Amino acid sequence: MPVGIMSEGSVSLYVHIPFCQSKCSYCDFNSYAGLESLIPSYVGALLTEMGLWQEPTQRMNAATVFLGGGTPSLLPLAEVERIMTALRQRFRLTVDAELSFEANPGTVDRPYLQGLRSLDVNRLSLGVQSLHDDELATLGRIHTAAEAREAYHTARHAGFDNVNLDLIYGLPRQTMTAWQYSVREAIALRPDHLSLYALTVEEATPLADAVARGRLPPPDADLAADMYLWAEDALAAAGYRHYEISNWALPDRHCRHNLAYWLNQPYLGLGAGAHSCFGGFRFANVKDPHRYVSLVKESAKGDARLAEDLPPFLAGLGHVAFAEQMSLARTMAETVVLGLRLVEGLRLEEFRRRFGQELISVYGAQVEELESLGLLERADGCLRLTANARLLGNEAFQRFLPD
Ligand code: SF4
Repeated sequence: MPVGIMSEGSVSLYVHIPFCQSKCSYCDFNSYAGLESLIPSYVGALLTEMGLWQEPTQRMNAATVFLGGGTPSLLPLAEVERIMTALRQRFRLTVDAELSFEANPGTVDRPYLQGLRSLDVNRLSLGVQSLHDDELATLGRIHTAAEAREAYHTARHAGFDNVNLDLIYGLPRQTMTAWQYSVREAIALRPDHLSLYALTVEEATPLADAVARGRLPPPDADLAADMYLWAEDALAAAGYRHYEISNWALPDRHCRHNLAYWLNQPYLGLGAGAHSCFGGFRFANVKDPHRYVSLVKESAKGDARLAEDLPPFLAGLGHVAFAEQMSLARTMAETVVLGLRLVEGLRLEEFRRRFGQELISVYGAQVEELESLGLLERADGCLRLTANARLLGNEAFQRFLPD
């Protein structure tokens, strides 16, 4: 094995559901509106793909599963059941596995959410984004603020005791007062977890077009930074622990699945465009859902073209569009960069255990320079971004990555 990626004995599973009711104005994710007729064959392909992974993962535990999208809550419950049943048959899910599911307000009702709970889904992530209807309209969301609140309360009544809300800040024309209202209202709901993301204007989106044509002003980066800093204080005062640059949680309610990413542990992504880091390789499936469905069928029949430079566990997978072997240097650098996203930072002892070297013996020059700039600090056995550097993380991250 090239690097210590499989040494943990566990794997996290991500299942991508690329269907959406309509496209939001800012979205460049791998998601599609109007493709619902593909859902049954897409789920069939997911089940087939799981079967292809059964052997390489059979000695590994799966402690987290995340169904993300897209809008997983567009799947009929019967299709979610097919996925959950197959996950249990194909992987060794631990008894206390975290099973997360992304849902959008406006797509869920009480019977649906109760159905998810009966399938043992135990964490719900709601894409609320804002609690102002005008901002939701700018974002092209399908729901209103009232529907977002209703979805949250319905989730609680359906038995979800672990709920995340996503919010976006730095919207065109968004005022600080409007942002403070959304955060305060979200806190008042008392979710277990909050993810706050800065809006980025992605190329070739309707939002980028509106900004380019002057119909909307570009996001104000200074104001967005002030919004982030205000939210940090408000969430701390409300008892939320800031544990990753964009994520806050009540005690013991951090997202275990995402934590596995930030600890650079192995994960398998299933579905169109899903990325994986497994067995010393980083790889990704084809993005287009139709192509994914047909290529998974070929992989299962053994018809896929064999690529000579791939390891046996990837060689017959025609739906894998890209794969690269992770060098030791790259794995160490990514472990540092991902670990620095955590507010606690990167545990120096953990780095030594994993790579057999002191972090400082590998990155001494970078660490000392960034410490002198006030961007990094060492404390409590960890290397971390200073509080002032959380908005400047990229400045620090790029020093560690190989050219
Ligand atoms: S719901 Fe999410 S994935 Fe779907 S279009 Fe909107 S932002 Fe994109």
